[in-house]
Amino acid sequence: MRLYTHPACLEHRPGPGNPESPARLEAVVEAISARWPDQRWEHPRAATRAELMRVHRADLVALILDSRFDDADDTLHIDAETVLSAGSAEAALHAAGAGIHAVDAVLGGQVRRVFCAVRPPGHHATASEAMGFCLFNNLAVAAAHAIDMHGLTRVAIIDFDVHHGNGTEAIFASDARVLYLSTHQSPLFPGTGAASDVGIGNVINRPMAPHTGSGAFRGLWSGDLLPALNAFRPQILLLSAGFDGHRRDPMADLQLDADDFGWLTGELGAIADRHASGRIVSMLEGGYDLNALRESAIAHVEALLRS
Ligand SMILES: [Zn+2]
Repeated sequence: MRLYTHPACLEHRPGPGNPESPARLEAVVEAISARWPDQRWEHPRAATRAELMRVHRADLVALILDSRFDDADDTLHIDAETVLSAGSAEAALHAAGAGIHAVDAVLGGQVRRVFCAVRPPGHHATASEAMGFCLFNNLAVAAAHAIDMHGLTRVAIIDFDVHHGNGTEAIFASDARVLYLSTHQSPLFPGTGAASDVGIGNVINRPMAPHTGSGAFRGLWSGDLLPALNAFRPQILLLSAGFDGHRRDPMADLQLDADDFGWLTGELGAIADRHASGRIVSMLEGGYDLNALRESAIAHVEALLRS
């Protein structure tokens, strides 16, 4: 098990009042460090433009990387909640780079599991648009790297963030080498992720009504999502690890507990062990109540370590 983070990820400053704050990442890193003081954090390299452009258009890459700012607190609003600051380019490069580095580590046989505590998050970013706090789609960049550089043909993306990963789905909806599985609250931002959206048979969306809770969440995963994942025989599992489904999260009403994230992670670990030599790369997505985020990240990492 390895832990990745990077100090550059703290320098993306979308401004006071924006829920996607540097304090989120500090909370996750501090909580995991306190729980496992012997686990060392590594600082992975930045992604290159060519790596980003496996999934993103050149004009989006230029917008994120080439915008200029007079001082550290200047901002450029892409939309109401998606904001660039002077440190955003380096943060986004290192968030995406962490996933690439982690894919290389697990496919190189150096380690079975990697958790990347990075920000900004990624799963709403499409090929051409940054949105929903997300600049580059970190996990999609990692998946494309696994396919292009390691020749994988069965890459599973498991997205348990409370929001639908519209960007990830759109990027891979016609790519049979990727299976995309998502549970998410509906209705909720970004409004996508209907059960009828199945890509080319490689997308499974399970929208959940507000206040659904633990039992139904586990039931959906046990019912057909985990069996579908098992049948896919993934060579690697990439996790969009959002913890905003927690009952104390201010952004949604899914009523999950930290234990639910631990449970699902354990189930995914068993499938990774069966088909993928244990290979899991997990990347932080959402989670906006700091205490809920701490508890959930600990439950998640505990299950990655144990399973
Ligand atoms: Zn989310």
